Amino acid sequence: MTLRGRLTAAFLAVVLGPVLLGAFFVGSTMSAVDRSRSTERLGLAATAVRTSVDALCQQLRAAADAVALVADPAARPGAAAQVVGRGLAAAVRITDTAGRTSYATPGGPTEPWQDCSGTSAAGPVGALAARVQLRDPTGADLGTVAAAQPVDPAFVARLAAVTGVAVTLLDDPAGPVRVAHTTENRQVREAVLAAAGRADGDRVTETDDGRYVRRVGPVEGQPLPLVLSVPGERPPALYAALVGAVVLAALLAVLAAGRLARVTTRPLVELAGAVDRVTHGDLTARVPVRSRDEIGRLALAFNRMTRETGSYVTALTSSRDQLRGHLAVLGDTLASTHDLQRILRVILDSAIAATGARAGAVLLLDGDGLLVGQCVEGLAGRWPTGDRNDPGTLRVPVGAGVVGAVAATGEPQRGRCDAGATPTGEPSCETYIAVPFATPGTADPGGRGGPERPGHPPAGDGAPAGGALGVLVLYDRLGGDEFDDDDLVTLRTFAGHAAVAVENVRVHEEAQRLSLTDPLTGLWNYRYLRESIRREVERANRFGRMLSVLALDLDRFKDVNDTWGHAAGDAVLVEFARRVRGEIREVDLAFRHGGEEFVVLLPETDARGATIVADRLGAVVRDSPVPVDGHGGEPVPVAVTVSIGIAVYPDHAASGQQVLDAADDALYAAKAAGRDCCRLAQVPDRAPTQELPVVAAAVSPADGLPRAGTTDAAGAGPGGASSGPHPPRQSRGR
Ligand code: GH3
Ligand code: MG
Ligand code: MG
Repeated sequence: MTLRGRLTAAFLAVVLGPVLLGAFFVGSTMSAVDRSRSTERLGLAATAVRTSVDALCQQLRAAADAVALVADPAARPGAAAQVVGRGLAAAVRITDTAGRTSYATPGGPTEPWQDCSGTSAAGPVGALAARVQLRDPTGADLGTVAAAQPVDPAFVARLAAVTGVAVTLLDDPAGPVRVAHTTENRQVREAVLAAAGRADGDRVTETDDGRYVRRVGPVEGQPLPLVLSVPGERPPALYAALVGAVVLAALLAVLAAGRLARVTTRPLVELAGAVDRVTHGDLTARVPVRSRDEIGRLALAFNRMTRETGSYVTALTSSRDQLRGHLAVLGDTLASTHDLQRILRVILDSAIAATGARAGAVLLLDGDGLLVGQCVEGLAGRWPTGDRNDPGTLRVPVGAGVVGAVAATGEPQRGRCDAGATPTGEPSCETYIAVPFATPGTADPGGRGGPERPGHPPAGDGAPAGGALGVLVLYDRLGGDEFDDDDLVTLRTFAGHAAVAVENVRVHEEAQRLSLTDPLTGLWNYRYLRESIRREVERANRFGRMLSVLALDLDRFKDVNDTWGHAAGDAVLVEFARRVRGEIREVDLAFRHGGEEFVVLLPETDARGATIVADRLGAVVRDSPVPVDGHGGEPVPVAVTVSIGIAVYPDHAASGQQVLDAADDALYAAKAAGRDCCRLAQVPDRAPTQELPVVAAAVSPADGLPRAGTTDAAGAGPGGASSGPHPPRQSRGR
């Protein structure tokens, strides 16, 4: 059963109960009043009947007495006629002692005459009579004188007129109830007779059509069997009216209850519908607020709840979409690049989007115990010092401030900043969360001129060997709340990404470095030489500069191996490489070409400069013997010399390979010249149509030294002039 049905039923019960009770009360009260008033009227009528009959009897007795008192028997008929003539009786009859009628006035009422002193007369009563003894003067009994008055419809009508009620004279009080005379009309006669049959003594009974009936007599003093009846005074259709009123009240109650229940339940029905819509995901559902009562407040609360939930879901959805976008970018970035700066920026942006921070930074530990910003976001305007666009100016000593403490302890921190200055150089903020991340470090194998600068510098430049520590820090959560544990978990994830990214980049760079370096000497290898010569030639071309190439080959190195063993030879190679690195500039590049052959590229250097470098290299090798382990393990100095061939681009060749070959040729010239010297390459003979692609700005210094492509280069090395015969090109196993 619905709530509406229950409410309707309850309302009906509440309304109909009292209505029914009231109707019952009214009905029963009116019946009781009616009965008692009717009983009272019948009682009064009965008294009036008795009085009237009694008065009539006394009148008849007086009439009979008047006749009986006439002493002369002959005068008695005259007296009787006189009594009748005066209307004191309808008839007078004189009987003798034997009961025979001696005289009777003519036209008397029919027999039998009911004696006033009797109580019952058999058969229909014709008249009411009073009898007196007739005596002679001596007192002897002479018979009786009876005076009678007819009991006819007129008599009954008079009784009815006197009593004010309907009067019925019964036929025979002893026999079945039959009507002799009555003032009742035909419709009610049978009902009154039936009720009179049930009547007992003075009791009042009620007919089916609402009349009250009472029997009067025959009793002493009132010998007539009479039935009195009065109609009930209550409205004729009382019960019908009451039933009608109850039905009407029920109908009205049903209508009112239905409407009331509908009005009461409608907001609830609307609310239930809206809740249904919400459970199916429709957060736009609202219910009309029709009142300020409890249901109205419920509707208001529901609307507020769905509105806030809706905006919350919208915010969540957009932040989820944003986060999805960031994660996609992060995934793409991690998969597609080894650019640490870019990766760290994407990680930072994703972490900011995921936690709803306003600003943040990624810092990596450098070799000096400083945390240096790698990328920052949203810190404009609260940058403590330095260039706002340069994250590198965010420098925090390990152990100082929040970020420093996180790096020092390895424990993440979150909380609210104290108001005031930030002496550690950290940005000003309201709330913060900082998570450390650690990656395994890498040994730095490079020295000057070596692979520490393999084209692009290692990321996290200056990160300490043996493990790089970094900190991912976010500031000012949106909404002003502190960062919570969920943010901490999220940030740990992103810090993990950052650690993996740093590690990946480091591994990638290490692999790249290893693929380009010679494991024994740490110099660049032949692979990187080819790339470098191409790049340097291109650069020399673009900027109109010169590029010098030195080809170096240790002299009689086989002997070192043969005499002191391969390990000693390796030691000599390592020491040689170290000395070469020590003698060249930052921009110069040294390569191990293979075996005991090396190449040095000298960008922006002409033949003269290259010759100076070659001389210096020859000297630094020659001047101090290399100590190696002797056969007994004792250190043995081994004298080493090197022969060097010099070629200059674009003076001696038109391409990278050609300039390498030219240097190689010059090296052989040096070998041929007795070793431990350097030689400059020969200027190649060119056909007039074969112009060397020398750019206009590519000039040799105006210092008198031979210029590329003009004349024989003058040897400047300690081994003497390079004007010696150019040895035939030999295959060197390349
Ligand atoms: P020169 O160049 O003056 O003509 O004489 P050389 O003895 O150096 O002659 P060559 O260039 O033919 O010999 C090269 C030798 O260098 C051969 C090999 O024993 C030695 N060698 C090459 N690579 C290595 C290396 O990696 N380690 C050691 N210990 N020796 C090497
Ligand atoms: Mg060699
Ligand atoms: Mg050699």
